[in-house]
Amino acid sequence: MIGLISATAAGAAARDRLAAAWPDRTRVYDGPVGDAVRRAFAECEQLVCFLATGAVVRLVAPLLGDKASDPGVVCVDEGGRFAVSLVGGHGGGANELARAVGELLGAEPVVTTATDAVGVPGLDTLGLPVEGAVAAVSRALLDGEAVALHNASGWPLPPLPVASEGTYGIRVTDRLVELSEQEVVLRPPTLVVGVGASRGAPAEEVWELIEGSLREAGLSAKSVAELATVDAKAGEPGIVAAAARFGVPLVTHSAEELAAVEVPNPSDAPLAAVGTPSVAEAAALVQGGELLVPKRKSAATPAMATCAVVRRPARGRLAVVGLGPGARDLLTPRAKAELQRASVLVGLDQYVDQIRDLLRPGTRVLESGLGAEEERARTAVEEARRGQAVALIGSGDAGVYAMASPALAEASDDIDVIGVPGVTAALAAAAILGAPLGHDHVSISLSDLHTPWEVIERRVRAAAEADIVVTFYNPRSRGRDWQLPKALAILAEHREPATPVGVVRNASRPDESARLTTLAALDPATVDMMTVVTVGNTATRDIAGRMVTPRGYRWQEGAQ
Ligand code: SAH
Repeated sequence: MIGLISATAAGAAARDRLAAAWPDRTRVYDGPVGDAVRRAFAECEQLVCFLATGAVVRLVAPLLGDKASDPGVVCVDEGGRFAVSLVGGHGGGANELARAVGELLGAEPVVTTATDAVGVPGLDTLGLPVEGAVAAVSRALLDGEAVALHNASGWPLPPLPVASEGTYGIRVTDRLVELSEQEVVLRPPTLVVGVGASRGAPAEEVWELIEGSLREAGLSAKSVAELATVDAKAGEPGIVAAAARFGVPLVTHSAEELAAVEVPNPSDAPLAAVGTPSVAEAAALVQGGELLVPKRKSAATPAMATCAVVRRPARGRLAVVGLGPGARDLLTPRAKAELQRASVLVGLDQYVDQIRDLLRPGTRVLESGLGAEEERARTAVEEARRGQAVALIGSGDAGVYAMASPALAEASDDIDVIGVPGVTAALAAAAILGAPLGHDHVSISLSDLHTPWEVIERRVRAAAEADIVVTFYNPRSRGRDWQLPKALAILAEHREPATPVGVVRNASRPDESARLTTLAALDPATVDMMTVVTVGNTATRDIAGRMVTPRGYRWQEGAQ
């Protein structure tokens, strides 16, 4: 039970919101606060006090026993801005409670426990099903106790504060295991179940066959990554139902593809029916791996279903993460989560600096200077192929004039690739300028380092002729100063001198600046490599100092 204590009207209002959200978990303690705190402390596992920390410190100090048994105490200030974990951060669960209360009330959780502040990942946030003594092992991790990691599967994990030996343990396995009171098991998605079925095979028969095969082989159903079968059985109800019940996708392969897979137990029946001598074994083995359960038939007579189980090798993980234009609050929550999911971070040193504080302790950082792009891409892919969880970072969107293409050009299909979009410079600049991208627009990089100038010029000309809004990336550097004037001149052949041009430097960074000018008046000397230049189309206007491209000429007329 969580005891709720408040003194003022504002405190009581926040208290009532909490009580309404958690009716079965909370109890309101009325009356004089000193008395209320003492009663709640004796009766509850946790307290939320809508009082100043000083007041609560004085009230609970005489009541404190030891951290294993004391309740967790959270304070919420009068303004409802902070939820402070005051006492019992781990043992009393006050850190978690502060976060939960913060989320509910829109307050910032304040957690000062050392290990929490440095960000030990929650065992339930790793994206793998977890079983066992989650609370005990999490607490051991947080308290810096020895926790051993047994990751025989080699599944890529974020850095965890673990040792090779310890009283507490984390196992990463698809096997059914006996756990002690101090152990958890994480379930990696390693198992592929190949399934065959005659038309109309009952769902229960298919399910029981698979479930029983896994159990007898000592394998966990939670590690099943997919069910696989032949194309002709894609809609077979019993198979579809089994995949749904496991909560995994049903992947299908053509009969030719399956016929080419070498299997231990081919037979004539499926060859006649669907054109491959094996469905279950071949579909399980088609992407390689170790055959753990050779073909088995269901127990019914006649048997209408077959299955086989394969363990696929662990796959490394490459997240290609856009950091946004600069400001921390334009870094997406997903990007942040991927940075913390990684055990290896690869990127340009100046971008690494931008997010270093978000990385988990133990993250291996491979940073390099400007240039070296191909090498960075290769390093990231190599680390992923070695089974690591890698984050490859780039500013803005990592796929826009950035690392995603060189990395994916290197990457084979034996790693998982996760793309996290970021706010690219053109969008960050547009938001500052007004609405310059309200109609068709393109981005053109003026860097002729990797692209011949003739190609760039042809594209600028095409955009000019098509009357498309253009954002120039890499517009001008010390060694490249004639390209921007040349590009603007091409646009000016098709647009009025008064066409609005937005120049944004360091969008969303501390020294951000923006200027709205025109094709005729733009001084290229004010443009550098920290800048994007957005040139309007023939309909773009300067309206109240904002750059506005109408949604469409006809649409505008209709609105008038
Ligand atoms: N991947 C990046 C672009 C890399 S190319 C993105 O999606 O934004 C580098 C060019 O991007 C720079 O020369 C500049 O033209 C532009 N740029 C990147 N960040 C910027 C910012 N914060 N403000 C203005 N321009 C920026």
